[in-house]
Amino acid sequence: MQAARNTPRAPHNRIGLDYARVPVWKVRLPIVDAHVHVNDVATAERFFQAAQAYGVERVVSMSPLASVPALRERFPGRIGFIAVPRWRDMKMSDDFRRGWCDDLERFRSLEARWCKFWMAPPMRQRHGLTLEHEFLRPVIDHALRLGYEFMVHVGDPTVWWAPGRPYADVAGFGAKPEQYASLEWFLNYVHPRHVIGAHFGGSVEDLEFLQGLLDRHGNYVLDSSATKWIVREVARQPNAVRAFVIRNRERILFGSDLVTSEKTDLFDHYASRYWAQRTMWETAYRGESPIEDPDGEQPPRLAGLDLPEDVLEDLYLRNAERLLG
Ligand SMILES: [Zn+2]
Repeated sequence: MQAARNTPRAPHNRIGLDYARVPVWKVRLPIVDAHVHVNDVATAERFFQAAQAYGVERVVSMSPLASVPALRERFPGRIGFIAVPRWRDMKMSDDFRRGWCDDLERFRSLEARWCKFWMAPPMRQRHGLTLEHEFLRPVIDHALRLGYEFMVHVGDPTVWWAPGRPYADVAGFGAKPEQYASLEWFLNYVHPRHVIGAHFGGSVEDLEFLQGLLDRHGNYVLDSSATKWIVREVARQPNAVRAFVIRNRERILFGSDLVTSEKTDLFDHYASRYWAQRTMWETAYRGESPIEDPDGEQPPRLAGLDLPEDVLEDLYLRNAERLLG
């Protein structure tokens, strides 16, 4: 993990690492990344190179429906899908809802077994929408009939509710704890289907709260995605997160939240998230994070948790095999 000299400082490499020199990791096994956004074949090539270099052999992606057939053909066995609606056209209209239900059927015929509900605070602010809203009920029921399990995005970094930050308008966005009442309703409603809470359930800052959710709802699992956010908060309380992961070892999926795009289509960009995640889970590293993070302390920190090998196996592979198939 030596830093190369004179490397230009990119946002994904503020400490000049040579990502092509992949560290020797604690465990060797085919990792599953349960949370990526591979947008098309063109930007998938470099992404898969980086994934492979860092031991990630299979990904589960929220890809646009139109890209799914080509991605399946180009990367057979390496990519599965989580059904997503066409968020850009999002409206509280019968047409949008009908299109969403149709797309759920198409995704299902392309072997998607999970579907995503992105219920971050802007959904409430823009559309008054939460998981419990009656507008969504037919979509949820349709997904249940089709046999889907669920991923939800609820919450966002706590720091975004601070004065001057995106959700400072609490009346519009709702306070952070308010985001979770409808999640608990949803967990009961779709039980015993599983629900993946993206980004450590949106609450890596408050592990006690998260533990309560896991204890009350046996069908709730988490993913480790949103690398910057998770790295920042793990560095703030490494011992508590380590104990939490070990305690809930069968209920956390490895995920990066990498998004492929022309703008970020660099081996190093994709590799940086895997470098950071694997360094955090597997090693005893204590130092700067290579990834710029305007939301945290400067310089950004990264704390390695040095998890036991069998816990890493659960996180990286076994939980995905059991839950994602
Ligand atoms: Zn995502």
